[in-house]
Amino acid sequence: MAGDALIEMRGVNKHFGELHVLQDIDLTVGRGEVVVIIGPSGSGKSTLCRAVNRLETIESGTIELDGRPLPDEGRALAQLRADVGMVFQSFNLFAHKTVLENIMLAPVKVRRKKKDEAARRARELLDRVGLASQADKYPAQLSGGQQQRVAIARALAMDPKVLLFDEPTSALDPEMINEVLEVMRQLARDGMTMVVVTHEMGFARSAANRVVFMADGRVVEDRTPEEFFTAPRSERAKDFLSKIL
Ligand code: ADP
Ligand code: MG
Repeated sequence: MAGDALIEMRGVNKHFGELHVLQDIDLTVGRGEVVVIIGPSGSGKSTLCRAVNRLETIESGTIELDGRPLPDEGRALAQLRADVGMVFQSFNLFAHKTVLENIMLAPVKVRRKKKDEAARRARELLDRVGLASQADKYPAQLSGGQQQRVAIARALAMDPKVLLFDEPTSALDPEMINEVLEVMRQLARDGMTMVVVTHEMGFARSAANRVVFMADGRVVEDRTPEEFFTAPRSERAKDFLSKIL
């Protein structure tokens, strides 16, 4: 993996006022790897994800995507945002557009794809997330789990190099969590590079190549799921696991 890092963070620091939200973060995500980030609320997980597609700026350190420093602005920044797909807790689909139109929108506007080509690709992606029959529905006609699967298809439509998931199942009713995790597992099997912030420990165990445990803005542990769950080293991780498992 060492020679083929897709995301490389070195000595990354960020404050929000007095709060040192990212503290000397070193993190490498290899091509095709699935890295699950876990940790208590407020530990900096979302900020770390947002820094990777420059929704947040950093104060020191470096972040490289595919061997290049993140761009500051302009077309290069738009390209970065296309290369780093994000799936959030809230799906943010456009309510007045159909499922198909939601997926086509960015490829047509940002990637300048032709409409029929974008529609063809959108149908392919809907099929991949198990929603081929829902193309002409509006988001409100779908369940939460289905809407999140549309959001995943929408992110995939930009052909991203990496997908970042920030608590993608936290807003879902329990019976819908698995259908979303199953789509994510399939993406992982297909070789998609993924960074996943989640409290779903079953997913972390079964799908992650590495588990990164964060606390107070630091990476406290960065190990295989096997090592992490059977023998956490830090008191913070032991304490965290005892509360959620
Ligand atoms: P996590 O995702 O692990 O719960 P976050 O990255 O969202 O943590 O937040 C880390 C800390 O930074 C929290 O204490 C949060 O309140 C604070 N924070 C996040 N975003 C902002 C912001 N825009 N301005 C000020 N503080 C923020
Ligand atoms: Mg968060």
